[in-house]
Amino acid sequence: MLYINGEWIEPHSKKYYEVTNPATGELLAKVPHASKEDVDLAVSSAREAFDKGPWPKMNPRERGAILHRIGSLIEKHAEELALLESRNNGKTLKEAKRGDLPPAAEIFHYMAGWADKYTGETLPVSGPYLNYTLREPVGVVGAIVPWNYPLLIACWKLAPALAMGNTVVLKPSEQTPLTALRLAELLQEEADLPRGVINIVTGFGDTGAAISSHRGVDKVAFTGSVETARAILHASAESNLKRISLELGGKSPNIIFPDADFERATRAALWGVFANKGEVCSAGSRLFLHSEIYDRFLSHLLDKTRTLVVGDPLDPETDIGSLVSGEQLSRVEQYVSTGLKEGAQLLCGGSRVTTGAASKGFFYQPTIFGQVTQKMTIAREEIFGPVLSVIRFKTEEDLIAMVNDTPYGLVSALWTKDIERAHRMARQIDAGSVWINDYNCFDSASPFGGVKESGWGREMSHDALNEYTRVKSVWIHLG
Ligand code: ADP
Repeated sequence: MLYINGEWIEPHSKKYYEVTNPATGELLAKVPHASKEDVDLAVSSAREAFDKGPWPKMNPRERGAILHRIGSLIEKHAEELALLESRNNGKTLKEAKRGDLPPAAEIFHYMAGWADKYTGETLPVSGPYLNYTLREPVGVVGAIVPWNYPLLIACWKLAPALAMGNTVVLKPSEQTPLTALRLAELLQEEADLPRGVINIVTGFGDTGAAISSHRGVDKVAFTGSVETARAILHASAESNLKRISLELGGKSPNIIFPDADFERATRAALWGVFANKGEVCSAGSRLFLHSEIYDRFLSHLLDKTRTLVVGDPLDPETDIGSLVSGEQLSRVEQYVSTGLKEGAQLLCGGSRVTTGAASKGFFYQPTIFGQVTQKMTIAREEIFGPVLSVIRFKTEEDLIAMVNDTPYGLVSALWTKDIERAHRMARQIDAGSVWINDYNCFDSASPFGGVKESGWGREMSHDALNEYTRVKSVWIHLG
């Protein structure tokens, strides 16, 4: 059912599709395929809640209290939501428990604190005037999210949008809509959110397109592929020029200098690319190794990679679960075969796993290619699977040229004990984040997002609030 105006309703077309567990093929649910008419209804409900409902006008501290309540609700139901996420996405249960649920709850607590603290300014204009700015909500926000961190990425958009007084129409990915729907049930039962503040429409690309081309939507917050981002930008251009924020792909560099802490850097290189089966926009999928340590580091990394267990996502011993779909598996297989054809050296993995608990799903071995060069497809395109491309470098100058020779710029990491080099590199790398001597550093208080074709706008931190507010300048003549 669709969640519109605080109620569960049937889709206008009565069309449903099946959502399955990618690890087992088990049918999990039949979910509506929302049409344009359903999106119209959801947008009207969000518009009504924004224009006439209590939400944007509420004392912001009260709104903050409701956000805290949502955060606590997610914490209270974290076990159940993690299990649902694992079954719907194929990620391991332990990853869902550790990586998806805690930050999904935390972003609500963090944004709750901002609800009454993100203010305008009084500005020193010339002439007999008092000039001040108001930070106002943008209105109806369309949130379109992908399948790799379904609930977490939805919460990264919901929390700041709600904190600033907006109302939302959320479209989860067609492949992983279940945790968002469950969250709506919990909100309905326990959160006291006014009707129409959050609406959820499930469906495919056409459902997303109905949101991005809708004249009643004031802003779209999108996470997904570059191709879809282009379609959304066109839709905005051809409708009401709605604001857009984009968090897209990456081909992120993880750079190891000879003076790196070897043990920690190896572990980070491993999890930087194999966490969540490599289906992570911030995956460290290009590993740059200095030639002095190339062989030694790689051999250590290969030893660790060979110990990874691929299989049943619910088994606590498993490290790598099922890819999200057969389509994603074929994409990974295609890239691996292109890597081989273009002359990269396959060092481990390179095929799917079809034995034991993995017989029914879309499991793929953790795969490492050595001697990758800048021209190869596997050094340039985002694979979104457990495949690592290892590139050798000698000088800092060559390194920077290679690191920045990509259309993407989401995150980056470098490992060195040389403080001057660390800061020098941090300035030179074209990316939204630079992690020094660690990988995957995320916190609600710190901005996350890309440069170049990795998108624009930021998730989390007070920078995100800018995405969900508009500024109004008020002038008063003082007589
Ligand atoms: P992925 O390849 O990771 O699935 P997509 O960009 O295809 O990334 O999908 C991300 C989200 O965008 C999903 O919710 C999907 O349904 C939605 N989507 C796909 N096509 C469109 C479109 N043309 N307009 C708006 N949303 C779309």
